[in-house]
Amino acid sequence: MDESKQPVSRIGAPGVIAIFAVLLIGGLWISLIAEMEHDRATVQRSAEVQAANLARTFEEHVRRAASSIDLVLLHLRDEIADGQPIDRQLDLLRRRLPSELVFQVAIIDADGHLRYVSLRAAEPVDLSDRDHFRVHRDTTADRLFISKPVLGRVSGRMSIQFTRRLDQPDGRFAGVLVFSADPAYFVSMYRSIDIGENGAVMLVGSDRVVRAGAARRTDVIPPPGALAADDYFAADRPNDGVYARTCPVDGGQRVAAYRRIAEMDLAVVVDLCLGDIMAPARERAVVLTGGGVVVSLLLLGAFATTGRLLIRRQRDGDALAAQALSLRRSNSELEAFAYAISHDLREPLRTINGFLGLLIRRAGAKLSAEETEFIDFARNGASRMDSLINGLLEYSRVGRNESAFEPVSLATVVDTALANLRGTLTSSHAAVSVLPGLPDVLGHGDELVRLLQNLIGNALKYHSPDRPPTISIAWRRQGRDWIISVTDNGIGIAAEHHERIFGIFQRLHGRDEYDGTGIGLALCRKIVEHHHGRIWVNSWEGEGSAFFIALPALAERS
Ligand code: ADP
Repeated sequence: MDESKQPVSRIGAPGVIAIFAVLLIGGLWISLIAEMEHDRATVQRSAEVQAANLARTFEEHVRRAASSIDLVLLHLRDEIADGQPIDRQLDLLRRRLPSELVFQVAIIDADGHLRYVSLRAAEPVDLSDRDHFRVHRDTTADRLFISKPVLGRVSGRMSIQFTRRLDQPDGRFAGVLVFSADPAYFVSMYRSIDIGENGAVMLVGSDRVVRAGAARRTDVIPPPGALAADDYFAADRPNDGVYARTCPVDGGQRVAAYRRIAEMDLAVVVDLCLGDIMAPARERAVVLTGGGVVVSLLLLGAFATTGRLLIRRQRDGDALAAQALSLRRSNSELEAFAYAISHDLREPLRTINGFLGLLIRRAGAKLSAEETEFIDFARNGASRMDSLINGLLEYSRVGRNESAFEPVSLATVVDTALANLRGTLTSSHAAVSVLPGLPDVLGHGDELVRLLQNLIGNALKYHSPDRPPTISIAWRRQGRDWIISVTDNGIGIAAEHHERIFGIFQRLHGRDEYDGTGIGLALCRKIVEHHHGRIWVNSWEGEGSAFFIALPALAERS
């Protein structure tokens, strides 16, 4: 890959952390909101059930009270028809009714004048304009009439009138029998039932006028006689139902249950405020929200810290990578420079050598022995420089071969190196042994031949004067690497030089002792490193040396 190319965009670990944090905290809040919504829906459902049940009980209560009154009305009417004294009968009959229900019984004659009243002596009061009089006078139907609350002209109290028509023996209109009932009685049972701080119960007529209502906050129900906001008798409404509504008074969410009592033109309404019932759910929501905020802050803190650490690490890593990249660039520039220079230097050297040769040929006989020696020195210097430059060229070429690594048989590499050194091997009477089964590695065959040839060549060059060279080439597996060793019985290397000898131009001997440039082992190290390996030496002076190369094993490399 071209190392100068940087990935165009990358999320990086901090980005992943941020996405993870958003997902986790988002997920937390989604489940908290779902939990709170579930609480709210549960409370709403139970409020609906509660309101419906209360409405059913309320209806039962109203029906029972109304029919008890009607029973007494009918009975009393019979007694009146039989000419019985009304006061005695009334006392008996009223005992059948709850004492707080009916507070006055009255008889209105056919002209609308009060004829009898149970509270005190009848005064001449004209009641002919009252609904409960006119409804019976104007129709012959014998039915119970329940009036809207009116202020009693005799009692001076708000009352609902339960009335029945009185007939003459011949069927003509004789007047109206009136029971004045206390509206509060109908809703009194709700004092003992908890309908909440803002709940209400109402008894409403089909004329939408409220007959009776009870609530702790009286402003949530219209006063008796006023109109109810909702039309429970609308034609499109069923006889009973439960629905959610917004309270026109306080704007709160409410659940209302109603039931129509069709034959009495009445409807009972139980109106519960969700706010009252929601209190425990609201407390739980506060706890959940608080918990959610604390957990979110803790998570945010943890993620922010981790993110900061990762960003710092990424920045450090980026700086290191940039440094390594610029090092690699300047190295390869240097190598390219060295290659170009060493290549160009050979040309003048060849010229010097050529002209010195020409000089000897032309003036050979005329030159003194000393002059010839000087010219030889100059030619030797030039050829030494040539081999130095050659070495440098070779050194700078390592790694410049851009063709891909391929599997290379080390057995073949060793064979080739030995073949290249055949002359020296023979003349030095060397004994070479190679451990069979040398492995294959990934690499460049030419460079690997150069590597082994240098090591074997050195083992021959630095042999001990006391014994013919013995060289053994072996291998073993160590972890993910192959370790190849080249061992000799030569002069050895003092421990303090074991590292230094791999540096370029590092030599331990003068040229008069051993010829050389000091480039060989530096070249070996460069080749090994190019193959992602390592090279090192073990040696004892006077006994011999063992050079080791570690190269990655093929399976792992591929
Ligand atoms: P050169 O052989 O051209 O001097 P090298 O880089 O090949 O350069 O070797 C560097 C030095 O390491 C040599 O001068 C020599 O002193 C020492 N050396 C290398 N190989 C051996 C060996 N097999 N035995 C003893 N000394 C060695």
